[in-house]
Order: sequence, then C-alpha cells, then structure tokens
Amino acid sequence: MQGRRTDTTSHPRWWVWLFALLLWPMAAAASTPARIGPDASYAALAPHTTYLHDAGGAATLDEAQRLLDTGRFAPLPNGDASFGFQTGAFWFHVAVTNTNAREQRWLLVQQYALSDRIDIYARYPDGRTVHHTGGDTFPFEHRSIRYRHPNFWLELPTDQPVDLLVRVQSQSSMQVPLFLYTPAAFAELSRDGQLGIGIYYGILVALFFYNLVLWLVLRDGSYFWYLFHITAFGLVLFTLNGLGFEYFWPHSTWLADKSVPLSVCLAQIGMQQFSRTFLGLNTRWRWGDRISKAIIAFFVLLGIAATQLPYHVATPIASAAVFPSIAWIAVIALVVVRSGYRPAKVFLLAWTMFLLGTGIFVALAFGLLPKTFMTEYGVQIGSALEMLLLSVALGYRYAALRNENERIVRDAKNQLEEQVITRTAELRQAMSELESAHHRLRESSRLDGLTDLYNRTHFREAFEHLLSQSRNSQRPISLLMIDLDHFKRINDTYGHLVGDDCLRCTSNTLAEALRPHGALLARFGGEEFIAALPGMGLGEASVVAEELRQALRAQPCRSGELEIAISASIGVHCVDLEARDSLESALQVADQALYTAKAEGRDCVRTL
Ligand code: GH3
Ligand code: MG
Ligand code: MG
Repeated sequence: MQGRRTDTTSHPRWWVWLFALLLWPMAAAASTPARIGPDASYAALAPHTTYLHDAGGAATLDEAQRLLDTGRFAPLPNGDASFGFQTGAFWFHVAVTNTNAREQRWLLVQQYALSDRIDIYARYPDGRTVHHTGGDTFPFEHRSIRYRHPNFWLELPTDQPVDLLVRVQSQSSMQVPLFLYTPAAFAELSRDGQLGIGIYYGILVALFFYNLVLWLVLRDGSYFWYLFHITAFGLVLFTLNGLGFEYFWPHSTWLADKSVPLSVCLAQIGMQQFSRTFLGLNTRWRWGDRISKAIIAFFVLLGIAATQLPYHVATPIASAAVFPSIAWIAVIALVVVRSGYRPAKVFLLAWTMFLLGTGIFVALAFGLLPKTFMTEYGVQIGSALEMLLLSVALGYRYAALRNENERIVRDAKNQLEEQVITRTAELRQAMSELESAHHRLRESSRLDGLTDLYNRTHFREAFEHLLSQSRNSQRPISLLMIDLDHFKRINDTYGHLVGDDCLRCTSNTLAEALRPHGALLARFGGEEFIAALPGMGLGEASVVAEELRQALRAQPCRSGELEIAISASIGVHCVDLEARDSLESALQVADQALYTAKAEGRDCVRTL
C-alpha cells in the first residue's frame, strides 16, 4: 500500500478512546468530518463515523436523518465498526470533504464480504442525494467493480462536504469497515491482496493435487480425508473472503447466504474424520474415537439444519462449535503422541501451527496484538503451514506403516526359517532312528534268538550268493552239517535251561573256531548247525571239521556250577559246481554224511 495517509485518518491511541468513552455525550456531538488531504489516495472512515442501531430495522432515511440531527448517533466503540451478530439495521454517518484537486471519483469499499444489504445515501451541498445499493442479496454483477468486497463509486467534488448515510442490514456478523480509495490506490490494494490470496490458494491447490495423486496410487483412507479437509477448509476461507460469491455462485444469493455455515460444517467433518483416520483412533483410544464420531454427527446434523435455519441462527452455532472441535483434535493428538505413535508428533506440530495462526488472528480481533502482516494473515499462514505439515505427516505415517509391514514380513520369514531348521533336524533324527530300527529289525529277522548265530532263512540266502560267487570264480565251496550227540540226554538230565546254555556255549566255540576260515555259520534248527566254507575243497573242509570236533571236545560247556562235556558228529560235503548242485541237494548229501557219522559211533567226521 503506497498511498499516503492524512493526519485525519490515522488511528487514535487507546487512551484517546478511553477518554472518548468517558466523555461519551460530548464525543457524540464532537464527531469530526473526514478531510481527505490534497495528496491522499485513500482514507479509513471509521474514526469519523457515528452510528445508530435501529433494532426494529424499520427507520426510513428521513427518520435516520432526524435522529442524526438530534445527536442520537454515537461514535464507533474503540473506532471499530464490528458489532457481532445483530438484529435490525445499523445506520452510519460520516461527513467527507475531499481537498485532493486531482481526484474527484472515489471508490467506497466495505472491507467485509458477507453483509446482506447495504444502502449508501450520498448528499451533496446542492441538495442532491445519490442512492447506491449493494451486498450479497444482489447478484455479483450489481457491484461497481468486480471485487470480493462490496464497493460503490462516489463523486467527491473538491472542497465540498459530502454527507454519507449508510444503512446496513445483515444476518451475518455486523462489520462495516468503510474505506475510500482513488482508482489507482484501489488497483494497488487489490493487486497486493490478489497476490497474497493467489499464493495461499496456490499452495492449497498444489497440496490438493499432490495428495490426490498419492490417494489414487495408495488408496489410503487418510489421504482421501486429507483432501476432503483441505477442500472444505479452502472453501471456508474462499467464502469468508467473498471469493465464493465472486467466482463460484455469483448468481445464487441463496448459496451466498448458506455457504458460510455449510462450509464450516463440512470443514469440521473433514478435520475430525481426517484426524480419526490419521491417528488410528479406533484402535488407540476407543472412547476418544466415540467422542470424535459424536462431533462429526453433530456437524452433519447442523449442516443439514443450516440449509433450513436462518443465517443468524446457524452461523453463530457453527462458529462457536468450531472452538471445542479444534481443541478436541489437539487433545486426541496429544493422547496418541503420549501412546508412542511417532507420526502423531508431526500431526500435533501441524495442528499447533493452525491453532497458533488462528489464536493470533483472534488476538488481533480483540485488539491484544498490533495489526501486522503476520497477525492479519495469521489464519492463512497457520493453515498453509498446517496443510503442508499434514502432507508431510501423511508421508511419514505411510513410511512408518511400510517399515512396520516390512518388519512383520522379516520377522515372519526369520521365524519360518528357524522352524524349517528345527523341523529338518527333527526329521533327520527321526529318519536315522527309523533307519537304525529298520537295521535292527532286519538283523533280528536274520538272527537266531537263542544263539545270535544266523538263522536258517538267512543262511539259505547267503549261501545262494556264495554259491554263485564260487561258480563265477571257479573256486570250490564245502558244507559242514554239525549235530550235537545225545543232546536229549543233557536236557533230560539238567533241564532245558542248561540245555540252552550248552547251545549258546557250543555256538561260541564253533564261531571262534571258524573265524579264521571266513566261514558262514548258522543254527540250522534244534541242536544242528551248518557251516559253508567258501574256497575249500573236501580235504580242507574235512580238516576244519576235525578241528571243530576237537574244539568242542576240548571245551566243556559251563552252566552255573556245571561243566558239561559236549561232542558232535559232522557230515562234510563239497558242492559239485559242474553238476549245478542246488542247495537242497547239497544239504541232502551233507545230511547223509552226518547220518553216516552218527551211525558209525558219533563224535566223528564223515564224508560220503
Ligand atoms: P543223537 O545223538 O541221535 O542226535 O541224539 P539226540 O538226543 O541229540 O537227538 P534227538 O533228535 O532225539 O534229540 C534232539 C533234542 O534236542 C530234542 C530236544 O529236546 C533238544 N533240543 C532241540 N532244540 C532245543 C533247544 O532249543 N533247547 C534245548 N534245551 N533243547 C533242544
Ligand atoms: Mg538232531
Ligand atoms: Mg543230536
């Protein structure tokens, strides 16, 4: 803003207002006319304005004039034309004298977008009265200039006092900050304003599309509610700035009326729903989640009701409900931060920015802070930072979720690997146990239970094998059939258990004696044994048989205290490899040789 201010338009200090308040009736009478200096390009009219509240709203221009003449108008409290939500109409009066010889056409701007109806009566010294109308009950084209705030062209001839009577009636907040601008000054003001607004909405639009793409790709509910929140919040500011009426619904005075409570409700629904999903409230704090849902339900109902309720009922309720609603979000963010959910920290920071910006703006409205760029645009700066940080928080949350998922997958994989290793070891153990059991089973099926020598079945198999080996190598193989002599007598004399001991003892003696010869020895049944001697002809085999016989004679069997003499008869037979002798026939011949040994007195070796 480059226009120079005149002395008359500077803001009085607070103590001036305190003084003015004490001297109320005198101050009312002492309202000074606004003098626009010779070089001034704009003027704030508030310090020179007096007002009257027409609670019934029925006073005519003449009646207002009469009340003005009788001194019933009062100066603006604290020089501020803000009265909150009011009924009826407000009348304002200001006398303006323009001493700038170059500028006679001025733009009167009411820097508040939402007033319903504004009537301007400009009275000139020649008795002429010019009437202008404005406000959002008229279509947007009705305005002097296409601009978001109501505005009116005024002729202010040089050095002539012009009396302005302004009547405002509105269901929205009664705010009537009036300013006069030369066309050049207004162009500068609107250009600066539009740039600021452009930057702000530029940030919002960029964030919107960036997160829209992320939502389309990731399909995460939080991103959708973020988009909802940013859109609805943008709409609130767009509406409050008067841009909604200018660009979105210039012909709909109905929407111009309803857009404020509706967009406030939508923004709160978006904020609450976004906070719930972002913070994962339904799992982290069940009761908090219920309260959030109740707040959402409240704003849904209020939004529906706002389409029917008059503006001056719906808007104050919606505006008042915003404070507990945003405070509640700070509470749930704090609770979730304390529960250790790290993305909630960025969320809380974002929310703090927003609350700070809004707080500064409110402090400005209550006159607690001076009007600077930072304080005047606190809401915009705070909310832009908030949206930006929330976008960062969403990314952070996504990364946290992804890391968590990766960790779960990694853990599951490690666990699975461990299980596989354990199971493999168990399986290997079971396999080896099974193998040894199988081995033992196979062994036991080949062995004789009493003597631990091979049994007859195994002997048959093993002998067939030796036989084919002998045929292949053309080496002889002989059989010894061994039968203990008069064994029945041992049983009869000492009992079967002693007999068993003698069988075991005999087995050991035979096995010992045969070991050097690489023989295959088996218990053939009862007290009969059989031995195959590979590589031995009849002569060698007979020598071995004789060794066996003598070994048995030399080694009486011990059973407890007893020593029992044992003798055996042995039949020897060398298998005829050429004649293709079968096992059965070979056994038969050996058995016959044994029979001969028995017949010839026992305890001897015979061949056929
Ligand atoms: P020989 O000199 O004619 O061979 O007379 P022997 O008594 O040895 O002949 P015989 O065939 O009449 O009797 C064999 C005996 O061997 C009968 C049986 O009591 C005994 N015997 C067979 N198997 C076992 C065994 O497993 N344990 C015991 N204690 N005795 C057995
Ligand atoms: Mg026998
Ligand atoms: Mg016998």
